[in-house]
Amino acid sequence: MIEVKNIYKTFYVPHEVQALSNVSHTVDKGQVVVVIGPSGSGKSTFLRCLNRLEYADSGHIFIDGIDILSPKTNINKIREEVGMVFQSFNLFPHKTVLENLTIAQTVVRKRTKKEAGEVAMELLKKVGIHDKAGVYPTQLSGGQQQRVAIARSLAMEPKVLLFDEPTSALDPEMVGEVLDVMKTVAKEGMTMVVVTHEMGFAREVADEVVFMDQGMLIEKGSPEHFFTNPESDRTKAFLSQIL
Ligand code: ADP
Ligand code: MG
Repeated sequence: MIEVKNIYKTFYVPHEVQALSNVSHTVDKGQVVVVIGPSGSGKSTFLRCLNRLEYADSGHIFIDGIDILSPKTNINKIREEVGMVFQSFNLFPHKTVLENLTIAQTVVRKRTKKEAGEVAMELLKKVGIHDKAGVYPTQLSGGQQQRVAIARSLAMEPKVLLFDEPTSALDPEMVGEVLDVMKTVAKEGMTMVVVTHEMGFAREVADEVVFMDQGMLIEKGSPEHFFTNPESDRTKAFLSQIL
């Protein structure tokens, strides 16, 4: 579903940083990959390259066979197929929860208002907040807002869903409800790439864990491998800090 080959990304402002250095990785359909690593290691840049929020300087990225770095590939098409959930929710503040879920469905997927509303209500049920359809995002807790954001992504029926530290901005008591929704989505077969520091989630849900440091993909393997028997000294040092 995702094939990344030898990508590089350098930022020049405010100073030169090689954010990604020769990163390659393949994600099969239905797989859940958890990306871990220290702050500044390139995790967000890697995710953002997968939906072309950042344009990799070189290398190749294929999503379900589509060459997303080809200038011929329509960026809107990529964004339709690759959803993203951010740390900061990014809901439309002046739209109700229901509207947040229906806008892109009607505009991008060309569904009627009625169809979009039905899909939205179904998804709000799935994430446990169908009673909040008429309220505005600010009237919700952080955990509820993030669940709306996940439902909004799902409404587009993406082929891939990316999560960039989806629970990092939440009060601790709300982390579990968001992880539970992510587990449900994973079980239903969504292909997911998740940047998170939640090692319990990685252990339980990941098919594969990837460790990044200084823009490089240092080590990958099963959760068992990572948490019992990591190879690289850098991986060991990182895990010893967070576990
Ligand atoms: P992580 O998500 O692992 O914390 P990032 O991918 O955000 O790491 O950042 C990797 C490196 O690239 C960091 O040194 C960061 O400062 C730099 N960086 C990321 N995005 C930008 C940007 N838009 N402009 C300049 N530098 C950036
Ligand atoms: Mg980041």
